[in-house]
Amino acid sequence: MSAAPRGLLTTSVGSLPKPDYLLAARTKRARGEITQAELDELSKRATQEWIQFQEEIGIDVLVDGEMYRGDMVAYFAENLEGMGISGLVRSYGNRYYKKPVATGPIRRPHPITVEWWEFAQGLTDRPVKGMLTGPYTICDWSFDDHYGSRRDFVMALAQVVHREAADLERAGARYIQIDEPAVSTRLDELDLAVEAMAVVTDGLKAHTTTHMCYGRFEEVYPQLLELAVDEIDLELANSGLDLLERFRTHPFTKDIGFGVVDVHTHRIESLDEVKQNIYRALDYLRPEQIYVDPDCGLKTRTVEEAKAKLRVIQQARNEVRAELAAGKVPVRA
Ligand SMILES: [Zn+2]
Repeated sequence: MSAAPRGLLTTSVGSLPKPDYLLAARTKRARGEITQAELDELSKRATQEWIQFQEEIGIDVLVDGEMYRGDMVAYFAENLEGMGISGLVRSYGNRYYKKPVATGPIRRPHPITVEWWEFAQGLTDRPVKGMLTGPYTICDWSFDDHYGSRRDFVMALAQVVHREAADLERAGARYIQIDEPAVSTRLDELDLAVEAMAVVTDGLKAHTTTHMCYGRFEEVYPQLLELAVDEIDLELANSGLDLLERFRTHPFTKDIGFGVVDVHTHRIESLDEVKQNIYRALDYLRPEQIYVDPDCGLKTRTVEEAKAKLRVIQQARNEVRAELAAGKVPVRA
């Protein structure tokens, strides 16, 4: 008998698509046609369905899919004192959206995500990740009418995100993810993101990870490793070769969330394509370092597309793990 397989745990980045009945209910709620309690019941039903699906196919570290929230920054801004939501802001031609704005000292009057996390974790024996938006991203995607400096704004947010993370840990979360997609677009401010992350994760014992969307991280490597997290989750399905090559001269010293399917395409990757991406990870990293997942949140896909992508990830992982156990795949020392 070979030893029990280790490493190559499967997970998701965070968001999953909301089923049609939940999208319809959110529209009704926005028009005042149903109560928040009625919406929450449907958010719970959708959470339960996603937890059950992930368990059924064998995912190792689950997510709640973020059924209860819309925009990842506005959701936190709405739950913080000292932040409001601006009037309509124009983006991309004729599209308009509402942007959060700091209007006073930022405080967290109550835990924000803990009850939702407890609900999801209560549905399964497998670990469910706590999901937070990081201080750098909340700042970068908001206006500031109070602090006057990006550093002061980010560091104030870091304190409240830290308190939320500490509450998740106290509630029992073994994995806490702090999403920082904005970092990839402003790598010149990586110093500030590093300073803020040290505050967010200070003293935590949970496995901490940060997801960042696609960026030219090879330009800030190895400084990227200064982020005070156990794992960095990156989009690597169709990119990142320059960064991976840097690992040869300066080994990646953390765990890595290794994206193996594209979230921007309707097409479902073949089993072989996903296995090739896992082999690619194994060229540069030890299996124990690697979490296999989609490139980013799957919320823009349909429910069926998201399920198909997660299934092929899980099957590819299972096959590669079996090959490793049989000594068939070269593993870097
Ligand atoms: Zn992303």
